[in-house]
Amino acid sequence: MEYYSCDMRTGGNICTSGHPRNGPQNLTYTNEQLDSCARAIAATGAKLGALGLTPATSSNFSMRLDDAHVAITISGRDKGALTSTDIMVVDLNGRAIDTSARPSAETLLHTQIYRCYPQANAVLHTHSRTQTVASRLFAAAGAVRIEGYELIKAIAGHVTHATYIDVPVFPNTQDMQELVDRVDAFIRADKSLYGYLIDGHGIYTWGRDMAEAERHIEAFEFLLGCELDLLRLKP
Ligand SMILES: [Zn+2]
Repeated sequence: MEYYSCDMRTGGNICTSGHPRNGPQNLTYTNEQLDSCARAIAATGAKLGALGLTPATSSNFSMRLDDAHVAITISGRDKGALTSTDIMVVDLNGRAIDTSARPSAETLLHTQIYRCYPQANAVLHTHSRTQTVASRLFAAAGAVRIEGYELIKAIAGHVTHATYIDVPVFPNTQDMQELVDRVDAFIRADKSLYGYLIDGHGIYTWGRDMAEAERHIEAFEFLLGCELDLLRLKP
């Protein structure tokens, strides 16, 4: 799919025009850049929605706008039928910028990834049935080990099937800071993290751009589905 670049760190331009009327005068991104991200997020939402990954208005998506801002889906919207008006801006602490709209309750999990991984420019979170069932089955083990699949090569940094990826499963909680702290402890211990499950909930993954993030979420969906099929079919 087409990729709308959101990384303006190389541009370094300061918005002097085009920002919303009556809005802050010191925004470091332009309306055009925000719109480009919004269109990319909406296109990804349509694709993932069609794949059944975003039931009942669940899931949330974001892209890095600049060093200090993230474009993210507004809470409660149908993620398979997004338009530009369903996307808002938050800072890296999850605070809404220039809008009264409410971002996803899980915004802090997105901004955590952007803070921890400077190379990450897109974060995707979905609630598919496959992800949810896998998280339940492997919650006690604390991780799903994915090993020996050709499609491991779809995950950045992997060049052979002859390896494995452990996808951690964190306990779910409505206390977002608690979840952020759990993920943070893991990130500090393992820099090779490319995605994680939350028990009974769904998956988070990310990429250097939206295309890579999409590839990761499709690969994890496929690989987790294979593991579930094997559990069903193995004697
Ligand atoms: Zn969620």
